[in-house]
Amino acid sequence: MNLTADQREIVAVVREFIDRDVIPFASELEHADEYPESMVETMRELGLFGTTIPEEYGGLGLGLDTYALIVMEISRGWVTLSGILNGSFIAATMIRLHGTEEQRQHFLPRLATMELRSSFSMTEPHAGSDVQSIRTTATRDGGEYVIDGQKMWVTNGWRSGIVMLLAKTDPAADPAHTGMTGFIVEKEPETNPPGLTIPMPGLKKLGYKGVESTELVFDGFRTPAASVLGGEEGVGRGFKYFMSGIEVGRVNVAARGVGLAQAALDDAIRYAQEREAFGKKIGHHQAVQLMIAKMATRAEAARLLTIQAAQKKASGERADLEAGMAKYFATEAAQENALDCMRIHGGYGYSLEYRPERYYRDAPLLLIGEGSNEIQQLIIARRLLERSAS
Ligand SMILES: Cc1cc2nc3c(=O)[nH]c(=O)nc-3n(C[C@H](O)[C@H](O)[C@H](O)COP(=O)(O)OP(=O)(O)OC[C@H]3O[C@@H](n4cnc5c(N)ncnc54)[C@H](O)[C@@H]3O)c2cc1C
Repeated sequence: MNLTADQREIVAVVREFIDRDVIPFASELEHADEYPESMVETMRELGLFGTTIPEEYGGLGLGLDTYALIVMEISRGWVTLSGILNGSFIAATMIRLHGTEEQRQHFLPRLATMELRSSFSMTEPHAGSDVQSIRTTATRDGGEYVIDGQKMWVTNGWRSGIVMLLAKTDPAADPAHTGMTGFIVEKEPETNPPGLTIPMPGLKKLGYKGVESTELVFDGFRTPAASVLGGEEGVGRGFKYFMSGIEVGRVNVAARGVGLAQAALDDAIRYAQEREAFGKKIGHHQAVQLMIAKMATRAEAARLLTIQAAQKKASGERADLEAGMAKYFATEAAQENALDCMRIHGGYGYSLEYRPERYYRDAPLLLIGEGSNEIQQLIIARRLLERSAS
């Protein structure tokens, strides 16, 4: 793969950080469900929260392809870290693309330095994939909107200072998406402001521990009318804005899949060269070699699809087909590699002392988040059919 000198440099710096400060400690923090404060601090010092934020707003001004390379490295260490990074990335992307100039100036510099953390909130208890059937409402009252409703699975929900929130400003609109509006809801981190309850310690999860995923219960919460993403013009455009956030989010999840698939492969190769059975290293048994070959091919194919999608999207072209393929393939690769890594580790793969069990618990989330893989397949097929019909 042809990387620019800048890309090689930043990937090398992140790789060193992951090898030195993350891989040796991630499982312990994950088991304790502990927020990785010092790792996040290093990511902040490296400027990673501002990767794609333009330099004029205090970021590094790099493209989605470089961001994807960074996420691959981070997820090779611990997927949770990429979940913490992603909250800021999606918010920054949506504000950069759809915010007013005032909103860009107000939020982007603080997102770049991580002075401000962000979360992204679409999902509700009864609606995930079917975004248009959300029920949370935002009702205009003078210079404010009053928010009522319940959100679910909000990653970074407690620690964030802004929530990118999707709500219905016209619940009777037909089609429903024309009555949906995005808000940049400001709140004090780690508190329950009037009208908003965030039950902590959050939702209990199989994996992806160390970062909170919470409910948000809005009951008469007031936010200024100026918090509508895109200002007055943004009213009724929230669905479109959030879908564009999800599209780059898909490349991000694909990159997580690549990182996890690579981590599982690296551990499997290392173990196959150490463990002996029947008088030789298990890596000399052909059955193990077949698994390693499949794992390596999946990881490499996932990487290429993800880079292709990221580059296409970064160039400004429509990339829903490529992003869908990358997300689908890379996350399935992660899941399959996690299981093969566990198989190669035998009984130790099932032990909490080794990393495969963490990969095995983290991988399934990637199949579900940012549009389930069933939905990705629908997008891929529809796009191909649409193309052949035109
Ligand atoms: C740990 C975690 C963190 C998360 N973080 C966030 C976050 O920060 N912000 C946020 O907004 N959300 C977040 N989510 C929510 C996540 O995006 C949703 O769970 C996801 O979109 C799926 O929605 P759902 O759970 O309601 O499943 P459903 O939409 O109910 O889907 C259930 C099943 O039906 C299938 N299905 C649904 N519709 C179709 C269809 N048309 N055709 C074929 N199959 C279909 C799905 O593929 C799936 O297999 C998070 C979830 C988890 C578990």
